[in-house]
Amino acid sequence: MSGQVDAALADTFRASLGQGLLVAGTAAIVTAVTASLLVSRRIAGPIHELAGASHRVAGGHYAERVKASGRDELGQLGSSFNAMAAALLEATERRRSELIGDVAHELRTPLATLRGYLEGLMDGVVAPSDQTWARLHDETGRLQRLIDDLQELSRAEAKQLSLQLWPVAEADLVQTAAERLSPAYAEKGVTLGTSIEPTLPAALADGDRAVQVLTNLLGNALRYTPAEGSVQVLATLADAHEIAVSVSDTGAGIPAEHLPRIFERFYRVDKSRSRALGGSGIGLTIARALVEAMGGRIWAESPGAGRGATFTFTLPVAA
Ligand code: ADP
Repeated sequence: MSGQVDAALADTFRASLGQGLLVAGTAAIVTAVTASLLVSRRIAGPIHELAGASHRVAGGHYAERVKASGRDELGQLGSSFNAMAAALLEATERRRSELIGDVAHELRTPLATLRGYLEGLMDGVVAPSDQTWARLHDETGRLQRLIDDLQELSRAEAKQLSLQLWPVAEADLVQTAAERLSPAYAEKGVTLGTSIEPTLPAALADGDRAVQVLTNLLGNALRYTPAEGSVQVLATLADAHEIAVSVSDTGAGIPAEHLPRIFERFYRVDKSRSRALGGSGIGLTIARALVEAMGGRIWAESPGAGRGATFTFTLPVAA
């Protein structure tokens, strides 16, 4: 009898233990699933928001911000993201206002000259001579060049240049640019020499744009080299992947402290001299944008003031 009672008790105990384990197991699974859903939603939500905001910031919408709440890693990441977006917005605004200031400054000089001459003509103080018309013509030409250069620069900086990349023979490139400038060199009495390494492979470039860069460097070399000086163009294979074209002159040279800045927009070593010689101050900025758009590099070297300068740009070798 007592054996039967023991067996019944044991059965009841086993059944309730099984039930208890089932209930506890189900509760544990439900809790784990709920907790992981909650945690992943807490993590996935902000990450999704951050991904969307980064995409919009990359597209130039620097006013974009994310909700950065909490002191955990995600909250800190959100705050860092917002700080970065704020810094970008500030830098863009600063750059925009600097550009407007620079352009206004550059326009002021030729406009003041034009106005002075026109007022002088109206008052009868300036004679309506050939010299006066030539001066007025020069100043309007300067304004036109500045506007054209600014347009080119804004297109280049916005990466809106349409480039036609083809294999280009360096010899053709050098010859075209040299022919374009040789009358001006002859007129000033500056010698122009060219040297192209034999068996140089073709470069992958936009021929017209590459000629534009070289013409610009040759124009500068002529501008800053006095009569009886000389300019030498050299095209060589820099390494297996790059062709280097350099323009060396025996002219004004560039003091070391100015070298890192001469590719900046409107930066000039000698402002009045550059203006007097007809420079717009953005030729090198455009040259750099063009070279970089073609996958090359550009830099300047000079042993110092009065000791000449060398400008070199590279272009990738055509496969
Ligand atoms: P700019 O129209 O004034 O020549 P660039 O952008 O072409 O403007 O050149 C910027 C500045 O770099 C020039 O104002 C000049 O000071 C300096 N520079 C450029 N090329 C030469 C050179 N070959 N020799 C000496 N200085 C140069």
